[in-house]
Amino acid sequence: MIFILGAADWRRCKGYGTVRVLVCGAGVIGITTAWYLAELGHDVSVIDRRDGPAEETSLANGGQISPSHVDPWPSPENLKQMIGWLGRKDAPLLYRLRLEPALWEWTLRFLFNCTAGRSAINTERMLRVALFSAEKLRDLRESLNLEYGQRTNGIVHIFRSRQAFDLALDRAARVSALGWRRDPKTPEECVAIEPALAGAGDTLVGGFHSPDDETGDVHRFTVDLARHCEMAGVRFFYDSSISEVISRDKRVTEIRTNRGPFRADAYVLALGSYTPLVLDEAGLRLPVYPAKGYSVSLTVVDAARAPTVGLIDDERKHVYSRLGEDIRIAGMAEFTGFDTQINDQRARQLVSAATDLFPGALDVDKASFWTGLRPQTPDSVPIIGRARLENLYVNTGHGTLVWTMACGSGSALANLISGRAPGIDMTGLGVERFRAI
Ligand SMILES: Cc1cc2nc3c(=O)[nH]c(=O)nc-3n(C[C@H](O)[C@H](O)[C@H](O)COP(=O)(O)OP(=O)(O)OC[C@H]3O[C@@H](n4cnc5c(N)ncnc54)[C@H](O)[C@@H]3O)c2cc1C
Repeated sequence: MIFILGAADWRRCKGYGTVRVLVCGAGVIGITTAWYLAELGHDVSVIDRRDGPAEETSLANGGQISPSHVDPWPSPENLKQMIGWLGRKDAPLLYRLRLEPALWEWTLRFLFNCTAGRSAINTERMLRVALFSAEKLRDLRESLNLEYGQRTNGIVHIFRSRQAFDLALDRAARVSALGWRRDPKTPEECVAIEPALAGAGDTLVGGFHSPDDETGDVHRFTVDLARHCEMAGVRFFYDSSISEVISRDKRVTEIRTNRGPFRADAYVLALGSYTPLVLDEAGLRLPVYPAKGYSVSLTVVDAARAPTVGLIDDERKHVYSRLGEDIRIAGMAEFTGFDTQINDQRARQLVSAATDLFPGALDVDKASFWTGLRPQTPDSVPIIGRARLENLYVNTGHGTLVWTMACGSGSALANLISGRAPGIDMTGLGVERFRAI
């Protein structure tokens, strides 16, 4: 069976009217892209191998919308820290160099970005998308009345080491200067903002408060937005696994799946970490590598001792969000390919960190563990835009801040496909930046 979603001539359609667009991937990025495309009047279809939206990496993330957290992974400080972690089983980051050319290329590009100058450039690029996205999320939430357990009472970053806090002061000043508040706070001020930190007060040396950051449930958000997409006429094809992108004369001609080929006028790849895997046949390489992370959801048993404000434990690289009756704790990164198995010992580190910080607040006997593969670029900046073929677009590589950047990325790409001004400066966000080191 052939799914012909569009027979119109792409060159005639581009920029002048309705285009039939096939969005590949029903995670938070695919669904936000589909929404903004439908809003602009396009004929949109979404395809995914799962049986519903947000069933893979958009299922149980850290729950934070945190433009304040735009610290690119490659930086001189992080590189030093990562070298210290090598070989440690309990390290926040596990890296194993394997016989895998994609990982080697990714690593070289990562090292190239570890200078102070590149880190400043990448911070600005990430924040540019995150700020635009925060604005788009607020508009969307209001206009559609979205409900996803959102809390708009900010996020507190906490520190236990004076040296790390002093270093973070510089980064915080940079982020604040670029337009997002990251206000330095004393330990007492941190406890005043989040009283559940009282037990840890003595161990803290300081923190930052970003009052405009938010928390919520990414799965509920994506499922609800997918429902709105459906009401706006978007068609969904689930249980459809994409094997390759077929191109001729610099244009995609079809996307092959287990259910047969799908044809449209334009194609958006939003397959998270899996995006590079379907591009081989089209001769395109994207430096996006899976960085496996863990989350655990624990039920609150003593509300007075559990946080309601979002938290980021900067040194342990853990985030905490209150989602209804649960606390979601997420963190860690493992460069171990596409393996999503839960390493029990590492997952339990999140539980002990949470009980350390909030003793007696959580039911640790009913922990619900999860892992997901963050689509990580070597510079931590997403890839949004056309991918060297006339009618092929990508929207991926948002790493740790996928949800934080989702609405802005989806809106900007939908505008680009429509031949409209994207809404933000797209310099440095496209695939072109990876042509040469
Ligand atoms: C532990 C952890 C904590 C995180 N915390 C946060 C946070 O607090 N804030 C934040 O902003 N971000 C966070 N992130 C990042 C983020 O939430 C996810 O990485 C993100 O949701 C990924 O969205 P996506 O749409 O790019 O990919 P996905 O959600 O993975 O969607 C891709 C879709 O493509 C489909 N697919 C893939 N391959 C194929 C194929 N061949 N054929 C058909 N369909 C296919 C999949 O089924 C999937 O539905 C976190 C990530 C992790 C792992």
